[in-house]
Amino acid sequence: MKRDCIFCRIASKELPAKIVYEDDRIVAFDDIRPQAPVHTLIIPRDHFASLNEVPAGRMDLLQHILSKIPAIAAAKEVKAGGYRVVLNTGPDSGQDVFHLHFHLFGGRKMHWPPG
Ligand code: 5GP
Ligand code: ZN
Repeated sequence: MKRDCIFCRIASKELPAKIVYEDDRIVAFDDIRPQAPVHTLIIPRDHFASLNEVPAGRMDLLQHILSKIPAIAAAKEVKAGGYRVVLNTGPDSGQDVFHLHFHLFGGRKMHWPPG
């Protein structure tokens, strides 16, 4: 737990969020400024600033997150219609919360290439 990290504080329930799914390793909650009808963030409970900081021995956590996303998409009713998963990493990506998080977008047609 990093005391000054908003996502650590959401994971520990110190800050409120609309939680969609949680287990012992990860938490999924709705984004506060949604960019699509469905915009949910999925984070590990453990703090890693970005994908670049996940040690090789903890990469199983990413597999766990990805394995839960279809069920989270189903809970948000976008599994059949389709959805997009985004993992911003570092300055050029636009990452601005430095606690690893996947975005799950759905409920509208996505554009390609992304902006
Ligand atoms: P990034 O740009 O780092 O990939 O995405 C960070 C995301 O976190 C943004 O979509 C932003 O709206 C969301 N966010 C930032 N602060 C909060 C918060 O306090 N609560 C929730 N639910 N989402 C947040
Ligand atoms: Zn954190």
